[in-house]
Amino acid sequence: EMCIRDRHMVAQKTEQLRQSEESRQRLLSNISHDLRTPVSSVLGHVELMLEGVVDSPEQQRTYLQRIRAKMLGLNRLMHDLFELANLESANARFIWTDITATSWIDDVWQKYVSDVNNAGFRLEQQSNISDTITIRVDLDRLDQVFANLISNAIRFMGSDGKIIVSCELANPAQVLFKVADNGSGIAPADIPKVFDRLYRGSHSRGNSGEHSGLGLAIAKEIVEAHQGKIWIDETVNCGCTLCVLIPIITTDH
Ligand code: ADP
Repeated sequence: EMCIRDRHMVAQKTEQLRQSEESRQRLLSNISHDLRTPVSSVLGHVELMLEGVVDSPEQQRTYLQRIRAKMLGLNRLMHDLFELANLESANARFIWTDITATSWIDDVWQKYVSDVNNAGFRLEQQSNISDTITIRVDLDRLDQVFANLISNAIRFMGSDGKIIVSCELANPAQVLFKVADNGSGIAPADIPKVFDRLYRGSHSRGNSGEHSGLGLAIAKEIVEAHQGKIWIDETVNCGCTLCVLIPIITTDH
């Protein structure tokens, strides 16, 4: 009996290893694609300039601007890859601060309301939770999560766009934050992929490279370092609702 259980465990471990090896392979091949594409494009532009094909100053300027955009994208990708590797290793240092959930939501609102308004949309905050409920967070890192969620919401918004940031109590002893938008949403088939490294929806592939496709993968690492969870609420059928669950700090010990 013992033996069967052992064998079962070995089989399970083997399967886990196979899956993580597979995802490493996929990540590597995605990284090489995402590095190679802009590099060859930049090289192509530079060759043409060196060959003297691009003669007018305006044309040269256009070429240089394209090169800069590609390089900025590469820079962003390298930064995000480094950040992700750092979060995954034990080296990532977190600076913990206790803050109430309601003041966190208010801070998020204060910080991003003008960005959202400038993009032509509205940002609302809702909290139906006692303002004594406290969570322990790394302020900068959790801010990075919300910055990513809000910038995604802005990016996939149509006209008359609205984003709601909210917090509520969830069992047991956790705060559920939501960033809900009424934009284009994500196709159900794509939902399981959005937290994957370098995954970008087809509509965002091939743009200037401003978005590395690592945003939600980084967000997931950060939230998990808070002993929390992040997911997409699939029961909402308008736009996209990202949920972030963070444990509550109990004051009695
Ligand atoms: P990136 O922002 O670089 O594309 P992310 O990891 O932040 O990478 O997001 C991955 C993908 O998830 C996006 O490319 C997009 O297809 C989808 N996505 C994320 N947030 C939203 C949203 N609020 N509305 C619609 N699609 C979204």
